[in-house]
Order: sequence, then structure tokens, then C-alpha cells
Amino acid sequence: MKLIKKSFFVLAMVLYAAACNADFIKVTLLGTGSPRPSVDRNGPAVLVEVGGKYLLFDSGRGVVQRLQQLDIRISDIQQIFLTHLHSDHISALDDVWLTGWIYQRPSPLNIYGPNGTKSFVDHLSQAYAYDVQLRNQYSGLGINAGAVVTNDIEPGVIYSENGIKVTAFLVDHRPVAPAYGYRIDFGERSVVISGDTSYSQSLVDHSVGIDLLVHEIMSVDHKILEKNPRLQKIQRYHTNPEQLVKVLSSIKPRTAVMTHIIVVGMSEDEVLKQVTIAYEGEVHMGEDLMSIEVGSSIKVIPYSKN
Ligand SMILES: [Zn+2]
Ligand SMILES: [Zn+2]
Repeated sequence: MKLIKKSFFVLAMVLYAAACNADFIKVTLLGTGSPRPSVDRNGPAVLVEVGGKYLLFDSGRGVVQRLQQLDIRISDIQQIFLTHLHSDHISALDDVWLTGWIYQRPSPLNIYGPNGTKSFVDHLSQAYAYDVQLRNQYSGLGINAGAVVTNDIEPGVIYSENGIKVTAFLVDHRPVAPAYGYRIDFGERSVVISGDTSYSQSLVDHSVGIDLLVHEIMSVDHKILEKNPRLQKIQRYHTNPEQLVKVLSSIKPRTAVMTHIIVVGMSEDEVLKQVTIAYEGEVHMGEDLMSIEVGSSIKVIPYSKN
């Protein structure tokens, strides 16, 4: 009888631990910037910690340094999902790949992205062939672990492991096409990352019932925008505050953070105000290394060195 009780207790603990684990996703904004160089906002990259794995979405400028700030080993990044092939989203892909290899990534790096990803990575591999061959020869790092497995994806579920599901869906970033947003599901928790997009009905449709929306924003002072055809062109394939309010009001996520922040002729506080005046739900201006813990409750935690 005692043994049965003890077994029941152990089983209950295991189920409790599994339930806790199944109920949690941690998202960290590694880079909240755009092509514009900034010391405060690195290139686009979002780290998702889920089910004991690290999933990296985009690999913009400075991503390796941000991982270092978090004490995360570069070699632990084994899955990268690219939203699209604009240079600001891929300019540090080689850094994650090769630095992770130098720091003993045990197996090939997996990269998922739109058509053209395989070609891009093949060309990177050619460009670094001399370095890879040298390091393999003199450091014995192992050529297999330094390899990259690239997947040109189609919309749908593209990754499914340990109860983690990643679904790619098309967004409207024309003339860049295809461009993807991603939905991550784990247990009862779900997160959507917009990538770069204008208002996208497909994103709204794929975001039913989500906990967290990580969405891009571009806001330009109207007077500046009127006089600047180049900015008008750029604005057309990004999301302005009015469009973001429309997205948020349709989805009503438990919380939302803005990223890929392009603000011209106004302050970021003004942009946040524009959105929060028109949308009642919770929404934050993203910052590099801000993390969002998505569980039964949601915590938005600004970066602190301590
Ligand atoms: Zn971008
Ligand atoms: Zn883009």
C-alpha cells in the first residue's frame, strides 16, 4: 500500500513537472532594430526557449554578442528560422554558424527559410570554404558538425519535435516574396512572430488565441512622409501604427511587443502612445534583451545586467 502511495506521488510529481514545462515559452528579443545601424538596437533576431530547446528567428547584426550577454552558448543554437532574405535579417547568419561550430556545436546547424535560403547558404559555404577547411585540419573541429542543413520551406508546419510545433505562414512584405511569419505552439502556449510585413490578413488568421504577438512597426511623421517618396515606398511594405492597431484589435493577444522599430521624426514614446490610445490591450515597445515569459501568467522583463 505504501509503495502504491509512493508511486502515485512520484507519478503526480512527474505529471506536474510535465504540465509546468508544457505550459511555458520564453521569448527574448535579441535585436529590435532594422537596417539602420544602432548601438542600442541590434539587427532583427528573436530567441525562443521552449521545451528545452533554443529556436532562433532571424540572425541580424550583433546576434552573437547578445547571446553572449545572456550567457547562452552559441553552440546551443541548432535551429534557425529565417523570415525572409533581406540582408538585415541574415547578416550574422555566418557568425552564428561558424562561431557555434568553433564553440563545439555537436551536429550540423539546421536553417529553415524561404526559397533562396539554400542558394544563399551554399554561397556562404563557398565563401568560407578556405576557413572551414583550415579549422577542420588544424583544430579537429569535425567537418560534419560544421555542416549546415538548409530547408527551403513552404507554408505549413515546418518543425515538430518534443511537442514543439513551428508553423510558417506567408506575410505581405512585397516586393519581397515569399516572406514568412512564424507561429510557435507548445502545450497550451503560443507565440507569433510577424517578421517584416505590411498589414497581413494571413498573420491575423494564423494568430487565433495566441498568448504573445511579436510584431514589427514603422512610424514616420506625416509631414516628413508626405515629402519623401523613398520613405513612402518603404512604409508600404511595413506596418504603421494604425495598421498595427487593426491587427491587435482583431487578434487580441494576451500581450504584444513591437520590434524591428523604425521611427522617423517622432519619439518611440509617441509611437507607443499612438497605439495604446487606440488599442485597449497590453502592448510594449520592444528593447534589445527584453524577455517575455509566457506561462499561466505573462511577465515582460526588461534586460538587467544583474
Ligand atoms: Zn527588416
Ligand atoms: Zn525586410
